Amino acid sequence: MIYFDNNATTQLDPQVLRVMLPFLQEQYGNPSSAYSFGRAAATAVATAREQVAALLRCDPSEIIFTSCGTESDNSAIQSALLIDPDRKHLVTSKVEHSAIIKQAEALARRGYEITWLDVDSSGMMNLEALEEAIREDTAIVSLMWANNETGVLFPIEEAAEICRSKGTIFHTDAVQAVGKIGIDLSRLPINFLSLSGHKLHAPKGVAALYVNRRTRFSPYLLGGGQENKRRGGTENTASIVALGHAAELASAALDEEIGRVKALRDRFEQGMLDAVSSVQINGDRTRRLPNTSNLAIEGVDSEGMLLLLDQRGVCCSAGSACTAGSLEPSHVLKAMGFPTERARGSLRFSFSRFNTEAEVDLALQIIPNAVEKLRSMSRGFLAA
Ligand code: PLP
Repeated sequence: MIYFDNNATTQLDPQVLRVMLPFLQEQYGNPSSAYSFGRAAATAVATAREQVAALLRCDPSEIIFTSCGTESDNSAIQSALLIDPDRKHLVTSKVEHSAIIKQAEALARRGYEITWLDVDSSGMMNLEALEEAIREDTAIVSLMWANNETGVLFPIEEAAEICRSKGTIFHTDAVQAVGKIGIDLSRLPINFLSLSGHKLHAPKGVAALYVNRRTRFSPYLLGGGQENKRRGGTENTASIVALGHAAELASAALDEEIGRVKALRDRFEQGMLDAVSSVQINGDRTRRLPNTSNLAIEGVDSEGMLLLLDQRGVCCSAGSACTAGSLEPSHVLKAMGFPTERARGSLRFSFSRFNTEAEVDLALQIIPNAVEKLRSMSRGFLAA
């Protein structure tokens, strides 16, 4: 199998598995228990908090462990709304992940007003439009750092600065950015940032929310007072330990890995452009994650391509995994102004540290052949 769908989820790093296993076996204490067996688990959670904070360059006290990126996104927005209940307006973009979009839509049904920022044909947002959208009653601005479908990077530093200058709370969904690009929260006026373990070689079901120490926070999950009273629920110790270790591995290898993964992506992309006619890259070519390639392939249907590539051992994605299965074209490509046929003929390939040049070269034999097969089938269908 050739796995080119690392924006959907990543392989658990074997080194991460090794450090988490003891916490599923002999070290099963509850971090809240007062005896030393419990305290050992609490110490492991504290170490993980330091490791995640080091990756983001923030203070460990600013990290809250959660169960998924979706929970982190929901917690940030709900906190801002609870802290300042008179503010009934939110700003976000049309290309966010459904963890934000569905929440904003639900809030709109409850009477909140949402400003949905547009993107241009390269998937880029407009900072002036952001500035104009912010009002006195804006409770929170939420913008993703990196788009999960195209990899396009929003100008988060500038967006955060605009929000700071207007006194508006700023959240960034950095689920696709953390571990793939350098992030330095020590010099950014960001209030909330979401990340998720399974996008950086930790297991599924563990994530974190960064809450700036000067930002007031109201918990989303009320319960036993864990996470310094900011998120109820017994800590998922093994997975938290895993996320900490994954963050440490990402920190240690980031510069080298960015270069290596980008070289693989570029080799793949150039190979596709050379081997297949009428292919276009969706999304800004430079302001983009180093691991993502979203390609519009004229004359193919991405659902058909997924099935054919699955038979031939290549995993990639059409649109985002969370909405796959629906026949709706990707909301991201639609927001970029592309016609339905272009959106329906687009595939996302996303790479990781575990991919190799040999896999790229093999895929460059398999995929162009599959494109030709589908194109000749539809030519035959049209001729019949
Ligand atoms: N935000 C973005 C940009 C994502 O890509 C994802 C997952 O695909 C999420 C949020 C949700 O994260 P999780 O799957 O951990 O809930």
